[in-house]
Amino acid sequence: MSAATGAAPATATPRWRRTNTCGSLRDTDANRTVVLNGWVHRRRDHGGLIFIDLRDRYGLTQVVCNPETSPQAHQVVADARPEYVLAVEGTVALRPEGTENPNLDTGAIEVLASAVEVLSAAQTPPFYLHEEGSVDESLRLRYRYLDLRRPRMRDNLVLRHRIVKHMRDFLDARNFLDIETPIVTAATPEGARDYLVPSRLYPGQFYALPQSPQQFKQLLMVSGLDRYYQIARCFRDEDQRADRQPEFTQLDLEISFVQREDVMGLIEALYIELCERHSEMRLLSNPFRRLTYAEALERYGSDRPDLRFELPLTDISELAGATEVQVFRTVLANGGVVKALRVPGCGDYTRRRLDELVDLAKQFGAKGLVWLVVGEQDVRASIRRYLRDGEVAALLEATEAVPGDLILAVADQPAVANEVLARLRDEFGARLGLADPNVLAFCWIVDFPLLEWEADAGHWTFSHNPFCSPRPGEAQWLDTDPGRAVSNQYDLVLNGHEIGGGSIRIHQRALQERVFELMGYSAEQIERQFGHMLTAFEYGVPPHGGIAMGIDRFIAVLAGEDSIREVIAFPKNQAAADLLMQAPGPVSQGQLDEVHIAVRLPPDEQQP
Ligand code: ASP
Repeated sequence: MSAATGAAPATATPRWRRTNTCGSLRDTDANRTVVLNGWVHRRRDHGGLIFIDLRDRYGLTQVVCNPETSPQAHQVVADARPEYVLAVEGTVALRPEGTENPNLDTGAIEVLASAVEVLSAAQTPPFYLHEEGSVDESLRLRYRYLDLRRPRMRDNLVLRHRIVKHMRDFLDARNFLDIETPIVTAATPEGARDYLVPSRLYPGQFYALPQSPQQFKQLLMVSGLDRYYQIARCFRDEDQRADRQPEFTQLDLEISFVQREDVMGLIEALYIELCERHSEMRLLSNPFRRLTYAEALERYGSDRPDLRFELPLTDISELAGATEVQVFRTVLANGGVVKALRVPGCGDYTRRRLDELVDLAKQFGAKGLVWLVVGEQDVRASIRRYLRDGEVAALLEATEAVPGDLILAVADQPAVANEVLARLRDEFGARLGLADPNVLAFCWIVDFPLLEWEADAGHWTFSHNPFCSPRPGEAQWLDTDPGRAVSNQYDLVLNGHEIGGGSIRIHQRALQERVFELMGYSAEQIERQFGHMLTAFEYGVPPHGGIAMGIDRFIAVLAGEDSIREVIAFPKNQAAADLLMQAPGPVSQGQLDEVHIAVRLPPDEQQP
């Protein structure tokens, strides 16, 4: 029997088997004889009486040990330290009047111990478990099993369980089949680097861990299984950014005979239910907002804008081009843009704070940042002397600025100007308290370009994955102007995070081959890497589409956590290392020989 069903550990006799959890006793249980099993959360020695807060997954119960009435219990508890595991037998009593604790579910009662057994002793933990606070994250990850004892971490895992269970029930009720797909398999491109697994049986050959179950789920549609889902683990060997994990979990699904509205509608209904059922946060828009990729970039500079606040960007290229400001003119002549962000109420920024903003913009990739401080009478600006009064007035009008505002402008190639201003927009969303932590702002982004030009490689690449289809009527551009083709991709954004994405897929062999060709694959490469897909498409393939929803980030947002590591039981750290299991780590020469691997270290990593 497992602990969850209430069995005592093997070392304890049946006498110590718990009758209740530490979160369950109420005033109505008064006078009952009970047994509790749990950890010493806190111990207070009042000279005579010793009080213990006994903790398990379900809560805390106050246990009182009286040396007069139960010397054995008092003796054992006198030696017990935090995190000892105890079995406590005792009687439930109402707490004396005035000592009830309304903040605790069990706060009306206490257990008067008659006997106590130590089930397991404990060392002093490396950090306090009863205090939330800034414990070094490496320490928490190294001792994750202790960290997970903390209520906040427990609550996060409970929330995660509930959400995933809800997803499963929702999809089960709609005829979806939960089907597992291989972990050790061949490469499936989603734009990242593969994790490779060397083969022992096939010297010099490798499996790859899936970047997603993409090809399998499409093949399941060819199999006629019609509606597939999986809570799938995906593996991507990407450079570690602040909040990425080498492996992460997705709700992965695929449906036959659908249009994009069907998939988006299904996910929208599911996510509205999830938020309403599992969160107190307010949904900003129901139905979800929808922006095209072009609109999102134009207005917010990003294809995953945080829409809890507006703060739109304004394209002021035309105005800027008519001024005497040389950088504007040069940038525009080279195909760049000039865009501006109006920051309400920051017109009182001092020169020092403005200089800091310029530095910040440079960190974000800008070559410079133009600022205009809008006063009641006049406008101060880094470039004021190059602007005519009429031009200043036109700028204020275009950005809808009023006295007291600050205008920030970036002149650069569109990608840079958008990126820098989008990050400044987020910065001010936070600074001005506009990013309300209690609001959920969902938004669909649609109509992405199908392909992006890879200048270095001299060919096109997919903007999401190579299986995404063009929108109806858009395939014609593939032969004349591939960059113009609009795709059937849809991404779901929540509070500035991309929390999912999918598409209606290509299901025609010829079109799929054409897309691979544009991506620079030779006929031989196409056959070797994707021959199985193309062959499958010759045996009767239903039009199909699907989506993959990131679970970690969604739970983190609902849990009010900044990092996804807080909602994953055993995450890697920011440098992709597992500090608990000490991975990655060296292996023996014997193991390397078995998989036919010779290690050649980069020069700076060689042992002296
Ligand atoms: N393979 C996914 C899809 O369903 C996308 C992803 O895994 O990021 O489109």
